Amino acid sequence: NLVAVAVEARGGQGIPRSSGLSDDLFMHDGQITKRPVRALALSALGPRPGERLWDIGAGSGSISVEWALCGGTATAIEAREDRAANIRSNAAAFGLAHRITVFTGTAPEAFGALEAPDAVFIGGGLDGAMFNAIWSRLSPGARLVAHAVTLETEALLGELHQRHGGELMRVEIAHAGPLGRYRSWEASRPVVQWSAVR
Ligand code: SAH
Repeated sequence: NLVAVAVEARGGQGIPRSSGLSDDLFMHDGQITKRPVRALALSALGPRPGERLWDIGAGSGSISVEWALCGGTATAIEAREDRAANIRSNAAAFGLAHRITVFTGTAPEAFGALEAPDAVFIGGGLDGAMFNAIWSRLSPGARLVAHAVTLETEALLGELHQRHGGELMRVEIAHAGPLGRYRSWEASRPVVQWSAVR
């Protein structure tokens, strides 16, 4: 249990209360919204106790976990069975299995029968058809946050921002790494975040 080990390593002080927990606390295969970008996702999602999230293309479930840590419930939809298994272990490791429901399947088919959410995070698989299927299911006031890494999804977010307003933001992060005897910036891929209210 990665979380138990981390809590132990911190001298039993528990896990931080802020969003943007260490990536090492989650079982993942590399497909995880990294810590600083995850913090920006949670900030835009704005979880409140008792609220329901749809986490679409949930990967490791790290967004669902951080949402549920704020007192809400999450439905994690993930196409790949191996990643859905990671989501289940991560939910269990944080003691959140009762607050996170995992659906293995592809959106938008998978959420046909679900109750409407207070917020949706789209971390994977966004296209025009998926957007329409989600947007039509949202009640007024529901929040939507989508991240794009590819040029194709980025172009779609540009259009959606023009049509529906909200905030469009590009995040470019670099970490210092070794360059011979020196250090240099190692840039991560830019992430474009669109957040809007229905
Ligand atoms: N936010 C996640 C990372 C998402 S990576 C985390 O923090 O771990 C994007 C994920 O979307 C991948 O796991 C991929 O399998 C999934 N995916 C892509 N298209 C999808 C679709 N149409 N329905 C469900 N999952 C999808």
